[in-house]
Amino acid sequence: MSDLLAGAPPTVHVYAPRGYEYRGFFRCPECDQKRRCVGQLFAWHSESVTCVACGDRFTAEEGRMERPPSRGWRKRGTAKARKAWDRIGSRSRRDAFGSLIADARREAA
Ligand SMILES: [Zn+2]
Repeated sequence: MSDLLAGAPPTVHVYAPRGYEYRGFFRCPECDQKRRCVGQLFAWHSESVTCVACGDRFTAEEGRMERPPSRGWRKRGTAKARKAWDRIGSRSRRDAFGSLIADARREAA
């Protein structure tokens, strides 16, 4: 190893695929009724949806995602989802899908 790198912090590469956020009213399997939900579309990964009422996250392929092993996860999950709901505004799933396709076309050109 080079002396130049001695003592330098290790380089960490974090893979975080870009998600296209949206919000809407969808049937939450946990609440068993239509709820405010925030979702994220990804180009190469499963779409995930979080229920604002209960804080559970879902994907079409896996169903309900694993809950965090810590106390208070539901309260934190709903607070986070509520913030996302406000931040996303009126952006629908259709809008998010349009942005994903437009970006993919731009990157392919
Ligand atoms: Zn729910």
